[in-house]
Amino acid sequence: SPAARTPPPPSPLRFSKFFQSNMRILITGGAGFIGSHLVDKLMENEKNEVIVADNYFTGSKDNLKKWIGHPRFELVRHDVTEPLLIEVDQIYHLACPASPIFYKYNPVKTTKTNVIGTLNMLGLAKRVGARILLTSTSEVYGDPLVHPQDESYWGNVNPIGVRSCYDEGKRVAETLMFDYHRQHGIEIRIARIFNTYGPRMNIDDGRVVSNFIAQAIRGLVYFYSTYAILSSIELFSYAIHLCSGESLTVQAPGTQTRSFCYVSDMVYGLIRLMEGDNTGPINIGNPGEFTMLELAETVKELINPEVEIAMVENTPDDPRQRKPVITKANELLGWEPKVKLRDGLPLMEEDFRLRLGVARKK
Ligand code: NAD
Ligand code: UDP
Ligand code: UDP
Repeated sequence: SPAARTPPPPSPLRFSKFFQSNMRILITGGAGFIGSHLVDKLMENEKNEVIVADNYFTGSKDNLKKWIGHPRFELVRHDVTEPLLIEVDQIYHLACPASPIFYKYNPVKTTKTNVIGTLNMLGLAKRVGARILLTSTSEVYGDPLVHPQDESYWGNVNPIGVRSCYDEGKRVAETLMFDYHRQHGIEIRIARIFNTYGPRMNIDDGRVVSNFIAQAIRGLVYFYSTYAILSSIELFSYAIHLCSGESLTVQAPGTQTRSFCYVSDMVYGLIRLMEGDNTGPINIGNPGEFTMLELAETVKELINPEVEIAMVENTPDDPRQRKPVITKANELLGWEPKVKLRDGLPLMEEDFRLRLGVARKK
């Protein structure tokens, strides 16, 4: 787009150039899934001071417990729909529930978070001369009529549906980012994130990978406890049938596709984008595309071959296909994902087992 080709305007003097040599970084939504992994990575650099602002709607202090009390780290309970007055050099603006069940829970609040929250962070960026990165989403492409999706596609989004608070909210957030850039010379970065998974996702998050892994592991608990009680080889298959616990809930038709990116790859991509010269929007995601039935089969094979797959009703406006074109990320940021789904799922399984208190068999 022409805007993306415009060279960035001269940046105001950075806050840290006046006061200190450290880079002071704000992460809104830093107590959430992606945010907390981003905190871990940024804290590895001793020149970074990290401030997290989060209202704990879907995030938790637990995700950040290893940093609480660290001299270069600060955690603030703050809702981004309220103004925030602090001094920082960079803002990673992630605050927004990402799982459909949570963003639909209070859709008006979701729109406020996307619109007023992003406006406030842009106002802050303008006042202190900070560079700001927005975590937008592949949902801006809606139920895409173009496949796979590159950044030039304008999307096919229902403006009045139950997902609109999220996808139209993010579209306005992108609009605000570009208008602050053109009108006020703010340094902006926009990432369009595709489905991301990994350790620390909420167990009851409701997104497909966390659901399937929790369901596969819980399936094992019921199965083994019942088997121990029956303790009889004749009843073995009966026990499997009756007591294998939860099924993997594939929402119909199961042929819809998603492309899943492991969280360490995502965090690396976000940092590359922030540190690079390109405003974006840039897709960040893993182009490996799977149907939900294929995902269920893979989870079954890797985690619990006994678990059953059940077809359940879907929700409205579910996008039928989604796969990123990542040529821009590759050429402009030198980024590509490294972790394949089959390698990432077991890493997530380990974390879920610890939190669910279910040991691996044998
Ligand atoms: P998450 O729900 O785990 O994290 C969101 C964080 O934002 C939580 O800690 C939550 O408490 C906080 N938050 C929500 N509303 C807030 C508010 N009004 N004020 C302050 N904090 C608030 O989700 P995530 O998966 O880590 O997603 C992070 C970002 O990435 C979101 O902006 C999301 O839209 C975007 N994204 C994620 C995915 C994905 O697959 N995970 C895909 C596309 C885009
Ligand atoms: N804002 C903020 N922190 C700041 C500066 C601004 O939260 O350090 C908020 C401010 O409350 C306002 C929004 O950001 O609602 C947009 O600010 P801007 O200065 O761009 O617009 P104005 O205040 O003129 O409406
Ligand atoms: N899905 C599913 N079973 C679940 C949860 C989700 O089959 O238990 C499907 C859902 O219908 C969608 C896909 O998985 O087609 C991805 O859904 P998710 O909520 O993870 O993310 P998003 O729709 O935002 O991409």
